[in-house]
Amino acid sequence: MICDFTKNYDYLVVGAGFFGAAFARIMTDAGKTCLVIDKRNHIGGNAYTEQVDGIEVHKYGAHIFHTSNEEVWGFANRFAKFNDFVNTPLAFFKGKYFNLPFNMNTFRELWGVETAEEAKAKIASQTIDVAEPKNLEEQALKLVGRDVYETLIKGYTEKQWGRDAKDLPAFIIKRVPFRFDFNNNYFNDKYQGVPVGGFTAMIEKMLDGIDVRLGVDFAELKVYADKIARKTVYSGMIDEYYDFCFGHLKYRTLRFETERVEVKRYQRSAVVNYTERAIPYTRIIDHKQFEFGNQDYSIITKEYPAEWGEGTIPYYPINDDENNGLYAKYRAKADEEPRVLFGGRLGAYSYLDMDKVVLMAMNLAKKELSE
Ligand code: FAD
Repeated sequence: MICDFTKNYDYLVVGAGFFGAAFARIMTDAGKTCLVIDKRNHIGGNAYTEQVDGIEVHKYGAHIFHTSNEEVWGFANRFAKFNDFVNTPLAFFKGKYFNLPFNMNTFRELWGVETAEEAKAKIASQTIDVAEPKNLEEQALKLVGRDVYETLIKGYTEKQWGRDAKDLPAFIIKRVPFRFDFNNNYFNDKYQGVPVGGFTAMIEKMLDGIDVRLGVDFAELKVYADKIARKTVYSGMIDEYYDFCFGHLKYRTLRFETERVEVKRYQRSAVVNYTERAIPYTRIIDHKQFEFGNQDYSIITKEYPAEWGEGTIPYYPINDDENNGLYAKYRAKADEEPRVLFGGRLGAYSYLDMDKVVLMAMNLAKKELSE
């Protein structure tokens, strides 16, 4: 039998990632009943981590929790103790390392400059004056000039999107944050860190006492959904929920290659971006550095961007006019169906960091509890 869900719940929560888990926790604490399902055989969604040889491996790419929102930080700290990890990624281009985000260390590595005035003058001398950039290349040259663009942006972005920068829309780069101090901390947020013991343990604690079924695709239950629960909270793909009736939303995906290497310190930083187009991967992650591991070996993951298709994970929505228009159609359809509530990064068809997804779950829960 496909469905042996005999209990009636207030909410059937589809997706055991940050969104579904946070929503289920808040509603359970408020006295509501929730059943959380996930089609994967694990909780945590894309933030899932797994122990391999004593190292927490970020199975779907490097995840660092960061936020400036006090309520979100307070909530997250109920389920984990965060370590003091600060994200200071590096870029590697033609044999040289560059600090990220773009700051005075980067400009010194590029041009040997020491002061903000020198760096600003160098950038100004290289930017181009175009009112309406026609493509990503023009937009980048307008914002950052040739050296930063060619060394740190062009190859990486082309790999990420699988197309030449001249064939990519300008909107992909809205602005480029420059810092004219020597601060390599990637995030501007007040709080950041990695949960001690991994993200999976954190989500496990969040779901403590809540009914969870793994390896269950909502598609198998859709016809019974209103018998299982009063409402469905859906953090899967909104177009899939509606059987792609208006067409498919587009995404980019990633392929990960993970290996154990018998080296104590594989690379200089937990995350190194490879900005040359000739190198097929965009990043290498050295997992043990997220938890200051001191093992004699390392577990590393190479991240390869790829075209998304059936059977692959939709990581990055392609928010161009065409897809945003399509999403608006699905949203309008969703608004006509108040017993299904969409959320999370796939429900919102938007790239969202974990803290934003938690905030979204908090807001939805508040709304539900006020009704
Ligand atoms: P997900 O984590 O995707 O969870 C949704 C769940 O729903 C999935 O487990 C899926 O299996 C399940 N599901 C979907 N459809 C169905 C269905 N039909 N039936 C049953 N289950 C279903 N954020 C940060 O804050 N910091 C970072 O450093 C960071 N790094 C990132 C690196 C990469 C490479 C990527 C891709 C993202 C990164 N993010 C980061 C973003 C972070 O992954 C998201 O914010 C977070 O995973 C969103 O949670 P979610 O619950 O909305 O979605």
